[in-house]
Amino acid sequence: MFIEPLLNKKYDKGWIEVIAGPMFSGKTEELIRRLKRAKIANLKVSIFKPKVDTRYSSDEVVSHDANAIPSIRVERAIEIIEFYEEADVIGIDEVQFFNEAIVDVIQYLALKGKRVIVAGLDMDSNGKPFGPMPALLTVSEYVTKLHAICIECGSLASHSFRISEEKSQILIGEKDSYQPLCRQCFHKKTIADDE
Ligand code: ZN
Repeated sequence: MFIEPLLNKKYDKGWIEVIAGPMFSGKTEELIRRLKRAKIANLKVSIFKPKVDTRYSSDEVVSHDANAIPSIRVERAIEIIEFYEEADVIGIDEVQFFNEAIVDVIQYLALKGKRVIVAGLDMDSNGKPFGPMPALLTVSEYVTKLHAICIECGSLASHSFRISEEKSQILIGEKDSYQPLCRQCFHKKTIADDE
């Protein structure tokens, strides 16, 4: 489990944490866990989501319980800079949907002394790196890679396999369109699809 190097108002050096993994791996839950701990430490927390992600309510990040934290939806990465001012800690969910500009925005915020925590899919449903994720993984200080459970064999799953016909890289939400699979099972299914 990730343990914060510092959790008090006095720090003035920012840093970047990336929580990466496939669907069903608990990325958002982990993001919320860290943000809640920051709140308990009396830090001001802001959460952002890309407008493209329309799952659940329009102004809350995540889980259907009291843990939900209000979030700000933004269309472009640069908008985050307009809203961050008050925050000590900045969370960004579904960060893979932003374009490459998010990499500069996040680094700017970290330079300003903010702790920035982003969560996102590291691979798309073709098993390819997703959008800005490779760059984010590179520039961050801390990386947490989560796994789901393969529904075929029960081992750790790193892939999100799309079972619907939709072929675009970005297919929002609907969890019943995807299955978590391990590397081997993903490969088998992808081969079968191509035949
Ligand atoms: Zn498997």
